[in-house]
Amino acid sequence: MNKIPYGRQHITESDIQAVVDTLKSDYLTQGPRIAEFEQAFANYVGAKYAVAVSNGTAALHLNAIALDVKPGDKVITTPITFVASANCVKYCGGEVIFADIDPNTYLLDIREVRKILEADIHREIKGIIPVNFAGRVVDIQAFRQLADEFDCWIIEDACHSPGGFFLDSDQKQVMSGSGQYADLAIFSFHPVKHIAAGEGGMITTNDEKLYKKLLMLRTHGITRDENLFENSLEFASGTSNNEQRTTSLSYPDWYMEMQELGFNYRLTDFQAALGLSQLNRAEEGLERRREIAKNYHEAFKNKSFIKGQSGLIEGHAYHLYILEVDDRIGLFNYLRENKIFAQIHYIPAHLMPYYRQFGWKEGDLPNAEKYYSQCISIPMFPSLSDEEQRFVMDKIDDFYNG
Ligand SMILES: *Cc1c(COP(=O)(O)O)cnc(C)c1O
Repeated sequence: MNKIPYGRQHITESDIQAVVDTLKSDYLTQGPRIAEFEQAFANYVGAKYAVAVSNGTAALHLNAIALDVKPGDKVITTPITFVASANCVKYCGGEVIFADIDPNTYLLDIREVRKILEADIHREIKGIIPVNFAGRVVDIQAFRQLADEFDCWIIEDACHSPGGFFLDSDQKQVMSGSGQYADLAIFSFHPVKHIAAGEGGMITTNDEKLYKKLLMLRTHGITRDENLFENSLEFASGTSNNEQRTTSLSYPDWYMEMQELGFNYRLTDFQAALGLSQLNRAEEGLERRREIAKNYHEAFKNKSFIKGQSGLIEGHAYHLYILEVDDRIGLFNYLRENKIFAQIHYIPAHLMPYYRQFGWKEGDLPNAEKYYSQCISIPMFPSLSDEEQRFVMDKIDDFYNG
């Protein structure tokens, strides 16, 4: 058996061809593939607008700027996530408040969030960043009601859940990233995620104002849209300081304006071509992930080491398949010896040395910390073969039953 990682990208001949075609075209960055990818992605998740950016972290950063996070502002998120979910608040000088997880879902516990909001008498908390951890989609409808009560915005970190959904109060499917309840949602196209583009990210929203702001922020805060120009036509034409008169009624072709302090967070056209090609197979990949989850579930459902999120959940996108186990380090090492590279998701963000300096310490978030002591992510990716999966299940069984 070859080595089996916990996650792996899958690149086909047609993916390669799509990239090669773009490399041979006139555009390497911000060409036609970008808009195509954005449109196709918006359709996939059911959102009005999508903005492609260089990675998921850049997507989070731009969201925090677009939502006007400032020094002194506080934002709530979960400790069981990749640190980028929290870091975007720090980039803008804000403060991160970690709230504990629900031990059954591993997701940000809305009851904990409510408690924190109710205690925030000075209304310093401006937003909430729930994370669809492992691919299970948060009930954003419930979070929206809570956020509205306290005048907060919501960024849905949907990096683990493209194609996933939750059931709303009418039992209707609400797609992850659809923008129906969250102000903004973000995705990543890092190779371990569902859709791989090398690096890459996407922001989805139904809010036109935020959409336009994000388009500008991703490319230096510059606009070329004449309708948005603030300086006069005379100034733009270069005729305000001399005797020449402009006869033109429109701004000259070269003219553009930098109106905000933005960044270069663009995606390249060939990455978009790869993303687009992968997106065409996304449903297929998701089906396979759900099949793998079902197999694991069948194999482990009567075992004492299966806990928490591992049950089969409708709408779950199965980015990760997690077990909570006794003797986790023993199992981890045993799997390594058998060339199965399980992983741990995640070390609680509040206990990272960077966040400890703000006063976070062990014991602050008991559910997250207990979860961390037992969690292990076992191989979950569409190209995992049945034979490989069987090998993984047998080895786990061997470890516990000797
Ligand atoms: C991967 C990931 C990110 C960051 O995405 P990058 O593209 O790697 O910058 C943010 N949040 C979560 C939950 C992720 O899994």
